[in-house]
Amino acid sequence: MRSRIWFAALLVAGCSASLPPAIDDTTRGPDSPTEAPTVSPYDRAEERTKMVDQQIIDRGITDSNVIQAMRIVPRHRFVPDDFADEAYGDHPLPIGHGQTISQPYIVAMMSEALGVGPGDRVLEVGTGSGYQAAVLAAMGCEVYTVEIVAELASRAEAVLSALGYTATVAVDDGYYGWEEHGPYDAIIVTAAPDHVPQPLLDQLKEGGVLVIPVGPIGAVQTMWRFTVDADGAVTGENLGAVRFVPFTRAAE
Ligand code: SAH
Repeated sequence: MRSRIWFAALLVAGCSASLPPAIDDTTRGPDSPTEAPTVSPYDRAEERTKMVDQQIIDRGITDSNVIQAMRIVPRHRFVPDDFADEAYGDHPLPIGHGQTISQPYIVAMMSEALGVGPGDRVLEVGTGSGYQAAVLAAMGCEVYTVEIVAELASRAEAVLSALGYTATVAVDDGYYGWEEHGPYDAIIVTAAPDHVPQPLLDQLKEGGVLVIPVGPIGAVQTMWRFTVDADGAVTGENLGAVRFVPFTRAAE
C-alpha cells in the first residue's frame, strides 16, 4: 500500500545536483498579498543579486521569469542553519538525510528547461529543502511536489508556508508521479533514477515536458528533456552531464 501524508502550504504565492555547467505563487510577498514583488522582501538581497548575475545570467540563463524568481526567493531560509552562511555559494549543500539542495545554476537551468510560466501546473519529484518548489511557485506555477523522506517533506512544507509560497507537498515514492493532480504541463525530477519512470511520461499533457537526470548511481548522469508530442510520441534532448543524488524507491 502506498501511504500519503499531505501537507498543504496554503497561504501565498512556489535538486540535487552538483557540477557546474562545464560538466563534471503565485508569489506574494508578505506585504502585498496579490502582486508579485519585483524586489525581494527578504534579507541578503545583495548576495542573491550577485548569485543571479554571476552564476545564472553570466552562464546563459535568459528566462526572465526564472531570473526574477531566483532574485526573490530567500535561498538561505531553505538550507540548514549550519550552512546558512554558504547559501548563495556556487555549489550544492547538505540538507540532512544524505540529500542536498542543488547548486543555484542547476535550479535555474532545470527551471528554464521546463519552459513554464504563470498558471502552468508542475509536478516536482524530490522536494528536498523546498527551494526548487519555491522558485517554481515564485514563477507563478501551480506546484505539486512529492518527497520520499517524511522529515524533509515536513520541513520543506513548514518553510514554504512560513514564507508564503503555495506548493502542495506529499510524502510518497515519486516514481508513480501524482496522478490525481495531473496531467501536468511539466514534471521536474531532482534525484537521478537509472531509467525514466513511465508513470511520469503518462502524467504529462500533450506537449508536456519532463526534465530528469538519468544514469547510474554515484556516477555522472545525463540531464534529459523529454517532450510528449500531440500523437503521444516522446522525443528526448540531452541537456548535458550532471551529478545528482540517487532516486530511491519505497520499500514494498
Ligand atoms: N529539489 C530539492 C533537491 C532535492 S535532493 C531542493 O530544491 O532542495 C533530491 C530529493 O529527492 C531528496 O530529498 C530525496 O529524498 C528525494 N527523492 C529521492 N528518491 C525519491 C523518490 N522516489 N520519490 C520522491 N522523492 C525522492
